[in-house]
Amino acid sequence: MYDIAIIGGGIAGITAAIFAVRRKQKVILISRDMGGQLINVTDIENWPGEKRLSGVELINKLINHLHDYQVETKFTTVEGIAKNPDSFNVKFSSENIEAKSVILCFGKSPTKLNVKGEDEFLGKGVSYCVNCDGNFFKNKHVAVIGGGSSALEGALTLANICNKVYLIHRRDSFRAESVLTDKVVSNQKIEIIYNSAITEILGDSKVNAINVDSGKNIALDGVFVEIGHSTDTSIIKELVDIDENNHVVINQDGSTSTKGIFAAGDITNHPFKQLIIASGQGATAALSAVKYLQNS
Ligand code: NAP
Repeated sequence: MYDIAIIGGGIAGITAAIFAVRRKQKVILISRDMGGQLINVTDIENWPGEKRLSGVELINKLINHLHDYQVETKFTTVEGIAKNPDSFNVKFSSENIEAKSVILCFGKSPTKLNVKGEDEFLGKGVSYCVNCDGNFFKNKHVAVIGGGSSALEGALTLANICNKVYLIHRRDSFRAESVLTDKVVSNQKIEIIYNSAITEILGDSKVNAINVDSGKNIALDGVFVEIGHSTDTSIIKELVDIDENNHVVINQDGSTSTKGIFAAGDITNHPFKQLIIASGQGATAALSAVKYLQNS
């Protein structure tokens, strides 16, 4: 029996884990990865005490900090949470652990395109993370989908690695800041395809082409989907109150509508989605969970 099961290994979950173990709780942190959305952040300039660092640098510092406290971690996807009279069962793969309290910190996941071939070729040419997978496409041809800062930054990063980058955007103007747009427009390796949407991702054992709604078929090796992030509350929607924006409704102390379940970070209905705020919310949720355990 764990005291606290923390679900999600982004900044909120890692902060919650550090605060909880320092208060001598038996903690398990369950996550698909470490760092969450931080992996995609090129420069952080608003983390107090650090004038500038990259998302990857901050992730490494956080992982080292976690290791100092020997927090038990499990790299997997949580499939369900069930409420018992005085505890919760957290289900993943073929396992099932029991915890007296749970902190939900699983933030946002990349939004899917929902086109044919997207799921089939995930990890076989389809990626949602330029910083994680870009180097697998050295000297290859790839496409980046989207028109926001993530897509344009991704296209610029890939232009340094790949021979050719198609940037495919559904409108005729970018949402990204103009400094990025200028760099993309003047980059010889990037071909911008405006007013277009992918209709299908094709391949055999891995991606080899895409179909675009203009009727074009483009031969390539990889597709990077960079169309934003959204929350997935499907495993908790019967357990805690969710608002109209698909965020977990929390009180000031991080508690939810279910006693023993707390939440922190981008999954919550806090109005600001910022690194420092998610971290503070992780600390708040951990301290509230400890107080809950002491009083129950
Ligand atoms: P975003 O700003 O929400 O942009 C998403 C892009 O994907 C938009 O261009 C959107 O098109 C497109 N899109 C959405 N759904 C689509 C679909 N189903 N099919 C095709 N295209 C679709 O997301 P983001 O780029 O990940 O950025 C998120 C936030 O992080 C923003 O506030 C951004 O400024 C910030 N950010 C900042 C930096 C930086 O400062 N260096 C870097 C990365 C991200 P429409 O334009 O037509 O809606």
